[in-house]
This record gives sequence, C-alpha cells and structure tokens, in this order.
Amino acid sequence: MLHVAVVGSGPSGVYTAQSLVQQSQVPGVRVDVLDRLPCPYGLVRYGVAPDHEKIKSLQNNLRTVLEHERVRFLGGVRVGPDGLPAARLRELYHAVVYCVGAAADRRLGVPGEELPGSWSATEFVSWYSAHPDAAADRFVLGARAAVVIGVGNVAVDVTRILARGAAELSPTDMPQAALSALAESHVREIHMVGRRGPSQARFTTKELRELGGLPDTEVVVDPEELALDPGYTDPAGLPSAQRRNVEVLRGWAERPPLGASRRIRLRFFLRPVELLPEAGRVDAVRFERTVPDGHGGVTGTGRYEDIEAQLVLRSVGYRGVPLDGLPFDADRGTVPHLAGRVLRDGSVAPGEYVAGWIKRGPTGVIGTNRPCAKETVTSLLEDAPALVRREVPDDPLAVLRAEGLRPVEWAGWQAIERAEAELGASLGRGVVKLPDWRSLMEAARQDSAP
Ligand code: NAP
Repeated sequence: MLHVAVVGSGPSGVYTAQSLVQQSQVPGVRVDVLDRLPCPYGLVRYGVAPDHEKIKSLQNNLRTVLEHERVRFLGGVRVGPDGLPAARLRELYHAVVYCVGAAADRRLGVPGEELPGSWSATEFVSWYSAHPDAAADRFVLGARAAVVIGVGNVAVDVTRILARGAAELSPTDMPQAALSALAESHVREIHMVGRRGPSQARFTTKELRELGGLPDTEVVVDPEELALDPGYTDPAGLPSAQRRNVEVLRGWAERPPLGASRRIRLRFFLRPVELLPEAGRVDAVRFERTVPDGHGGVTGTGRYEDIEAQLVLRSVGYRGVPLDGLPFDADRGTVPHLAGRVLRDGSVAPGEYVAGWIKRGPTGVIGTNRPCAKETVTSLLEDAPALVRREVPDDPLAVLRAEGLRPVEWAGWQAIERAEAELGASLGRGVVKLPDWRSLMEAARQDSAP
C-alpha cells in the first residue's frame, strides 16, 4: 500500500490523483487530496470566469477523480505553520505532492500601485468568483472608466466581465453581491493596455475574439498604434497563434465605429509608470509610450500619456509563494525540482514532489497540467519501492482526526453544493456560490457524514 497526500485540489492536484490511481504498477495506492478551502477544484472554481460555462464544466471530470474509491477529498485543511505542519504531513504519508499553484500576484513596482481603486486582477476575479478570502469591496462603484494593465488571458477575462451586463451574468453562478454591483456599474470605457505590441500579446485568439461579440460593446483599436509593430505590418513570419491575434485586431481596426454604449479600447506600446490620485483614490494611470527595440522588447520614448480610470486592475501575472519547509526559487516563484522530485540544495528530497504552477510557473492552460502531473507521478512511482519501506499509519485521516483536525470531506462538499443550489433557487437564479467562510462551513457541517 502506498499512501500519498496531494496538497491542492485544483487541476494539477486532481490530475496527479488521477494519474496515481490509473497506473497499474502500484495497485494499492491511496490518495488524500487536501485543500485549505472547503471546496475542491482550485482555479476551475475560483479562477475560470463564470461566463465560461464550458471550461467550468471540467469540474465534472475532476469530480469523477475525487469520487474514485481510492481517493479522498479533505477540505478545510491548511498545510503550513499555522495549520497542519508540512513535516507532520510527511510523517503520515509515504509521499507528498505539492500542487498549490501560484497564490500571489506579480507586482508592477510603480508609485500609486496601492491607491484605493487599484487592485490586482486576481482580487477582482476572487470577488466575482466568490472566493471566501475575497475583499468585501464593490470595485466598480463610482467608476466611469477602468484600466486593465496587461494583455494576457486574465486581462481579457476581467475586461469581458466589466463589459458584460447583469442580464448575461445572472444565469452564471456569480455571487449575488458581485452581480448586483456589476448591474449598477457605470463603467463605459475599459482600456486594456499592453507594454509591448499586438504580436507579443499573451492572450489566445479564442479569448480575444470573444471581446468582439459582447452585446452593446465595441472594441476600438488604433490602426496607427498597431502599425508600430513590425509583426502587425508584416505578419507572415509570426507563429500562427500570434498571426491569428493580429488578424482579429486588423478586422477591428478596419471596421467603422458601431456607436455602442460601452467601449473596450485595446492599447499597445504603453508602459505603466505611475498611478495618479484624485481625492485619495486612483483617477488615472500614467504610461510611457514605448517603441519596439528590434529584439522582442521595447524601449521608452520619454513621451507620456495619462488614461483616466477610477478602477485599475493590474493583470500582470501570478507568482508562486514559498511553502513551509520546502526550497524555493524566488526569481521563478517555483520549487526547484527534477522531473517533479523536489530538489534540496541540488539533491532529490525523497518523498516530496511538485506538480502544476508551483513546479513550472504560471503558464499554460488547464490541460497543460495533465502531462505535468503525469511526469511527477512517473517519478513518484519509480521511487515507490523505497518510499513504502517507511512505516506510516494505515489511515492517516484517523490520526489527523485524533489530533483534532476536522476536515470537510466529500459529503461536506456535496452539502455545500446543495446549499448553493438552494440559494440560487431562492434568488430565482441557477446555482449561486456561497461567498464567505461562515456560510461555506455552516453548509459543510450539514453533511450526513457520521
Ligand atoms: P500572462 O499570460 O503571463 O500575461 C501577463 C501580462 O502582463 C502580459 O501581457 C505581460 O506583458 C504583462 N506584464 C507583466 N509585467 C508587466 C509590467 N510590469 N507592466 C506591464 N505589463 C506587464 O498572465 P495571465 O493573464 O495572468 O495568465 C496566466 C496563465 O493563465 C496563462 O497561461 C493564461 O493563458 C492562463 N489563463 C487562461 C485562460 C483561458 O484559457 N481562458 C484564462 C485565464 C488565464 P509582457 O508579455 O510584455 O511581459
């Protein structure tokens, strides 16, 4: 019998559990998937935009894994010094796989970043996704214009949610408070701003194109700004994904104005240098105009442009955070590893593994986690004969319970799901997410588990 703890129940954690129980070398493997939240699925639940129902439905595949007879979900368990110490976890299991993602945001490092009204995009995403740690703010209140800094897929998500009306968001599982705030939004101008050119933007074409199909919203691009990019004027040499992006942008540049009531302005070659206040809140972002440097980067021109915004969402990428007792590469925001095996001072640490963003950094789509998890599991299984020589308890959960831990088990999660369906029905909507710790834990404790 091989007992494995997987820390984190997002896609990388669940794909790790799946790989472990699907393999045939160690038929007796048992996997406990721990999560600090009482709800599983990580960023599929708390990151994928609520209007992306198709991607959200991936939860059904992840559910099948967590309901596997040799997999257990243990929610509400924080691994770390202020919860279950990582060292204790390692005593209880033959192997621990950390799949904790990249929990922090990269910083801009410019003056005014902390002004009221300036948020990381992930804070905004957490709010409309009902993450229980989300800030209790109304974000859009009092804002006429918003600036989204960065041109990746998260930037596209938050731009789209800002531009969508309540009627379109109501059928989603967005929490009621966020839906009401967005229904009252007066944001009419949304500027999504890249520091480099259109051919270097990180968004994918499918996501970009979606911005052009939003009701009563038009996408505005300046053909002269696009033309600063050699990749735009001569896209033949671009990789196909970038070429497709450029062609979508060209279509918008050549289109006559539509006169819609909301505008998404896609801007390029503008590097944020300062957030400017008015009456103690952000009121504009100052950008320096840049030009291509011929090597894929840009250089400043010493010319500046201020864009008005009472809401600023900094969407410049995620960053991994150090884990209790694990080595950490601060530059990359990842745990050093060899094919998923944690490396301490260059040597393999037996029984410790990583998968997902904490292993390879915050890149790729959900499916990228499958091969990533598989590689880690292959390493773990190669090590299994040595790992199982160490005595561990027959049932680590029984030990944890005896030590006073009361995880939210699968029945507790199902009780949360029922409560969310009931909440939705009472509001005349579909499923509506519970937005805070108290209501989640109250619902979880309604489970029928003994
Ligand atoms: P990302 O793809 O890395 O994009 C980050 C953006 O921030 C880039 O445009 C980057 O520009 C810009 N940036 C970084 N530092 C900056 C600075 N100091 N000033 C101005 N701009 C700066 O990150 P992400 O959008 O957070 O996405 C993370 C991952 O999740 C990606 O793999 C993404 O595809 C994935 N995701 C996918 C979906 C989907 O499939 N629907 C949805 C959401 C997220 P430079 O390129 O110039 O550095």
